Amino acid sequence: MSQPILRFAPSPNGYLHLGHALSAFLTWEAAEKLGGTAHLRIEDIDLNRCKPEFTQAIFEDLAWLGLCWPQPVLIQSERLELYADAANVLRDQALIYPCFCTRAESAEHATETDPDGAPIYPGTCRHLSNAERIERLERGDAVQFRLDTEATRDRVGMLTYTVVGPTVLDRPQVRYARPERWGDVVLQRKDTPTSYHLSVVVDDAAEGVTHVTRGRDLEAATDIHVLLQAILGLKSPIYHFHRLLKDETGAKLSKSRNSKSLRDLRAEGLTPNDVRRLIGLPER
Ligand code: GLU
Repeated sequence: MSQPILRFAPSPNGYLHLGHALSAFLTWEAAEKLGGTAHLRIEDIDLNRCKPEFTQAIFEDLAWLGLCWPQPVLIQSERLELYADAANVLRDQALIYPCFCTRAESAEHATETDPDGAPIYPGTCRHLSNAERIERLERGDAVQFRLDTEATRDRVGMLTYTVVGPTVLDRPQVRYARPERWGDVVLQRKDTPTSYHLSVVVDDAAEGVTHVTRGRDLEAATDIHVLLQAILGLKSPIYHFHRLLKDETGAKLSKSRNSKSLRDLRAEGLTPNDVRRLIGLPER
């Protein structure tokens, strides 16, 4: 077996909070248990929301927690061409199509919801003729590109992946992926030639990631990642889904809900061990 490689891949669209600390600690500890290395990756494809000062803060906050990682750190905004290349592989096989719908139009005609509770795209633009597509592209209509999930699924056949848990050392279990429950996801957005799903798959392969540790909130999205890996001929890593931290109301901690950042806690005089205690990890 090759040397285990894990990764922690935050998006610099705000300061890290306790949920990130949990994910980071668990990733580094999993790497330690497996005798491997944890990488840091900056997932900053959302150019409107991600800021260099948040990237800098990620480096500082993780170092404060006592974590270190190999250089160079992979920065997604520097790799847009590679994601576009991967999208072109799918384009050549007619597995992605241009979609001109607005979010409101898609939602209006949707009849089902995906595992995150968002409306499933009803497939309107999947049925456009080539002539219509060309005309609208030439007219300069705002366009995003969607994966034809069913067609891709048919192309790759039965789809399984390996999960380990409750710890990374537990016995691997094989699970069926059901990407069709997401419908035709966007792979290239209107504002950038990629998407979370596409970049994460390209980069996990590029970094030789053997084990993906991520929160349970991203468990269902793994179905799409496994489908993309299969069609792009990339090896699927082993997956490990960890618990999530909840706030007092039972909601997942997130930046948008203004949960306290690690830097706030540090400014209040907390130590990394205090952080560990707060998130239910033993002191070190
Ligand atoms: N960048 C993603 C996030 O911050 C996580 C990526 C992943 O684990 O796949 O939520």
